[in-house]
Formats: sequence, C-alpha cells, structure tokens
Amino acid sequence: GTWLGVMGGGQLGRMFAHAAQQMGFKVAVLEPSIDCPASHAADYLHCADYTDADALKKMAEQCAAVTTEFENVSARSLALLAENTFVAPSADCVSIAQDRMEEKRFFIDCAAKSGVFPAPHKEIKSDADIDSVPDDLLPGILKTVRMGYDGKGQVRVKTRDELRQAYADMEGAHCVLEKMLPLAYEISVLSARGADGQSVVYPIAENVHRDGILFTTTVPGPHITPESAAKAQAAALAIIEQMGYVGVLCIEFFVLTDGSLVANEMAPRPHNSGHYTIDACVTSQFAQQARAMARLPLGDVRQHSPAAMLNILGDIWFEGDSEKAHEPAWDKVLALPGANLHLYGKNSARRARKMGHVTFIAPTIEEAQENLRKACAILGIPA
Ligand code: ATP
Ligand code: MG
Ligand code: MG
Repeated sequence: GTWLGVMGGGQLGRMFAHAAQQMGFKVAVLEPSIDCPASHAADYLHCADYTDADALKKMAEQCAAVTTEFENVSARSLALLAENTFVAPSADCVSIAQDRMEEKRFFIDCAAKSGVFPAPHKEIKSDADIDSVPDDLLPGILKTVRMGYDGKGQVRVKTRDELRQAYADMEGAHCVLEKMLPLAYEISVLSARGADGQSVVYPIAENVHRDGILFTTTVPGPHITPESAAKAQAAALAIIEQMGYVGVLCIEFFVLTDGSLVANEMAPRPHNSGHYTIDACVTSQFAQQARAMARLPLGDVRQHSPAAMLNILGDIWFEGDSEKAHEPAWDKVLALPGANLHLYGKNSARRARKMGHVTFIAPTIEEAQENLRKACAILGIPA
C-alpha cells in the first residue's frame, strides 16, 4: 500500500491516521514520545526527535507524502523531507504560519484580493520599540511572535507601563503588540487546496474560547450572517490561493462589533475547530488532508448535519483542588442523542490538557446545542 507520513503524534496525528487508514493508506508517524496518542493508531512509528536527520530520511523514503500536525516543526526538517518526498503543506507555507509577524505581512500582501487585514499591530524587539508604540494600539495584547498557542505567550496590557512590564517578563522574546479589538464573535474558516490548484472551503465555524483555549465550535454559527460568511470564505480562498498552499489550512477571523472582519492567525493543518467535519461533513478535514497529500481530487465539503462541538479538557477528571483523577461519565454523555465522542487515548489527565471532544449532530442547531449543554451538566463543565 501507499504510505503517508505525519510529523507529530498528538491527537491530530492520531485522527489523521484513522482517516487515512480508512482510505487504504498506511500511516507513518514521526514523534519523539513512544506513548503518544498517534502511536497506538500508526502503522509505523519513527520514534525520534523532529530534527533527527536519519529518521527524516527514512520517513521520506517510506512515504509518498508527508504532512505535519503542528506548525512549530522546524522548517529545516520539512525542507529535508522535501529532498526525498512530497511535503504538503510546504516548508515555506508552514514557516509563514510559525511567525506572527510573517503571518500578518502575508495577510496584508493578500488584502487587495482577500479584502481582510490583520489587527493593527507593532513589532516589539526592544525597549525602544515600546516608546514608539502609538497610543491608539493600547489597550492591547502582547504576543510572542513564535511558539504561542492556547493563549500561552500572551499578556493583555492597558497602559504603556503595563506593556513595558509585560515585555520585560517575556525575557527578550520577539513580540508583537496587537490592538485590543471589540470582538462580536470569532470564526474560523477551514479550506483546502489540492496539488492541482483546486480549492474548497468548508462552512464557517463559530468558536467560543475559554481561558484562551477553544471551548465550543458551532456550525452553523448562531451569529454569522450570510454576508459575513461569504466574505470570510472568499477571503480564505484568496489567501490559500496566493500562498500556493497544498493541504488543509485553517484561518481564524474576528468579527468586530461593527461587522467588519479581521484576520487573526492561521494554522497550516487540520484544526480543533474543524473536528466537527468528522461527524457532520461528507469529507472530514483529516480525510481531506490525506486526499491533498495523495494528489487525489479533494472531497465534498458539504455539511450534512448541524453540529456543536465541545472540547474535553483534563480538568473534569479532577474535583476541586484534588489530585486524584476519576474517569468522567462517558456512558451518560453517549446516551445523549447525536453524541459522537472522540477520546484521544492520552494516558493521564492534566488540567487544561485536550483529552478529547464530543460533537453533537442533530436535525437543528438548537437541538445540537441543547445536547451540548446537557453534556456540560453531566461532565461538570460550567455552561
Ligand atoms: P490558538 O490556540 O488558537 O493557536 P493563540 O494562543 O495562538 O491561540 P490567538 O488566537 O492569537 O492565540 O488569541 C487567543 C484569543 O485571544 C483569540 O481567540 C481571541 O479571543 C483573543 N484575542 C487575540 N487577539 C486579540 C485582539 N487583537 N483583540 C481582541 N481579542 C484578541
Ligand atoms: Mg495560534
Ligand atoms: Mg487562535
């Protein structure tokens, strides 16, 4: 059979393996930890560091194509793989998404075609940059340019003094200050582009975050208007096109209180907010990634059921401050109509760790949301 490879053995690598195997591919995973979620799903585990030249060479020789499940894989590793196999998305595309400044520059480059800009911002590389921050960028959010995720590496600042302190606490990290925008709601747009240049875009997902981590995704979203949806989808297609990207790309947008769209960031891979596609769309984001890698025609993105996804974090394994973990009542969650439970096979629960998700599908979005609320009550998640 044909082998597909994935850099990273977390839940995204695991769900990719499941989807690709279902389509008849064999899946190789490169991941340093032998006990990762994808290791139990993979046909072959290259247990090595992501930069291990020997493992990269073996992976490239074994696989017809290689992808990545996380954006912080070194661009050099992807370039090494690309010497011997097809890498999608390419090192160039991934490196744009690794760096918030490059990402914003790219969004600006695309703006003529996409009609969407990033948040007003200023690069912060030294204390002197703080003095030249325009007043109207405050209050703002100071973000590290690289490596931030789930709200990590971000500090909200109201004043220049708070900004100075926050930057000092970053210990010299390359940062960007973004103006704090008045968000009405947040959306993400999942798109995919094939090696033949054909692109597709999924329905708009509306996202609610809690403590910087995705909490729920609802599709169709309760707030999005058809005009904003069409605009965001067209923007995503313009961006994926201009990047010459191959594979699945997720772009997060803010919808501001005045209705305008702002490009926040992108993930060069299947995304947490796209998990609903597994149960609610003709082609899941993971199957789509396998198709793009194998240079197959992209699959139908049509959504066949309204869907509401709830992320399951490790917190619910614990009561109060207790250290003792207990297994949540999955049987009660599974008894709810339209429940599709996905647990990632992580061996130990930790607070704020993504352990799984559950997607409710139903004939109407209201019913899906109602079942999601019931699941929250069962699992002890404040609604
Ligand atoms: P992810 O886990 O999605 O990769 P991240 O850590 O990279 O997240 P961002 O998406 O940049 O972080 O920001 C996290 C959240 O903080 C956003 O979803 C949004 O709710 C809020 N936020 C970020 N930037 C702004 C802004 N400029 N104005 C208002 N809110 C913002
Ligand atoms: Mg991010
Ligand atoms: Mg984000």
